Amino acid sequence: MEQHQKPTVVITGASSGVGLYAAKALAERGWYVVLACRDLAKAQKAAQAVEIPYNSYTSIHIDLGSLESVRQFVKNFRASGKSLDALVCNAAIYMPLIKEPLRSPEGYELSVATNHLGHFLLCNLMLEDLKKSSSSEPRLVILGTVTHNPDELGGKIPPRPDLGDLQGFAEGFKEPITMIDGKKFEPVKAYKDSKVCNVLTMRELHERYHKSTGIIFNSLYPGCVAETPLFRNHYPLFQKIFPLFQKYITGGYVSQELAGERVAAVVADPEYNQSGVYWSWGNRQKKDGKSFVQKVSPQARDDDKGDRMWELSAKLVGIA
Ligand code: NAP
Repeated sequence: MEQHQKPTVVITGASSGVGLYAAKALAERGWYVVLACRDLAKAQKAAQAVEIPYNSYTSIHIDLGSLESVRQFVKNFRASGKSLDALVCNAAIYMPLIKEPLRSPEGYELSVATNHLGHFLLCNLMLEDLKKSSSSEPRLVILGTVTHNPDELGGKIPPRPDLGDLQGFAEGFKEPITMIDGKKFEPVKAYKDSKVCNVLTMRELHERYHKSTGIIFNSLYPGCVAETPLFRNHYPLFQKIFPLFQKYITGGYVSQELAGERVAAVVADPEYNQSGVYWSWGNRQKKDGKSFVQKVSPQARDDDKGDRMWELSAKLVGIA
């Protein structure tokens, strides 16, 4: 019974890393958490391991790489009878070492399909649920990253994200197309491009729906969470050295617990009720530990690009 009086948040990719610790931090703030995950047994085990109280969460299956699965998730969520007060788009894959693109069931390149197109469809479908929230300020939060922004220290390492004129999207994004800009496959760039789309999606959602719905749309860079399994597909040596480099050289390192706290704050705390903004604690973790609204990259603040990205993504996910 108790759980129905709590506000409800859906978090995608809550079976590890930032999403898992955000779920824990939100449960501690009195929220009921829906772990939207592709491996439910793993999600349950992870939630138990970090001691999220059993009566403050449930899990529902979603594979963000499959549009069919995203649609089924929304049906299952609605069938559960829960209201939706916040949605956190957190799940992501990063596969820096693959030589050939992997494909989603719909035939799209898999990192962009998972990180961007799956979330793009989910956001559009779940707007209806957020509109029905009894909260005075329902929120939709999309995880960003410093690597989306070549103007920032953490974003300077090549390859640079570049959506070009979105020729790859315009041409249907299926074989032989592998990248949004229609150019040669580059897996690290595919990840960065998908994160540019995440920030553009947040800004477009704000432009299109904030005034009419009151929903707060925002993004955040939680810091470099160098010890999450996001880097599981990198060289083992990289996985060892990267956290040390971030801790002792760049100063960008944050723990998974702190990153989870930051997501929870952006979802739940009154001071984060600005819409259309990107929250950051600084690339080198400003010493006072305070958050600030950070300028996003030139591509991610390009309104024309945002509009084109929206129209083409809507076609690719079948809602145009
Ligand atoms: P992580 O530990 O690898 O977590 C990623 C989550 O996404 C996992 O739960 C994973 O599920 C899930 N996922 C992957 N593919 C999925 C799919 N097809 N369907 C459903 N769920 C899927 O990575 P993380 O570091 O916490 O990253 C979380 C978010 O933070 C990402 O958006 C990332 O861009 C952002 N971020 C991370 C950092 C960092 O330094 N780590 C910095 C800035 C931003 P499985 O457990 O089943 O694999």
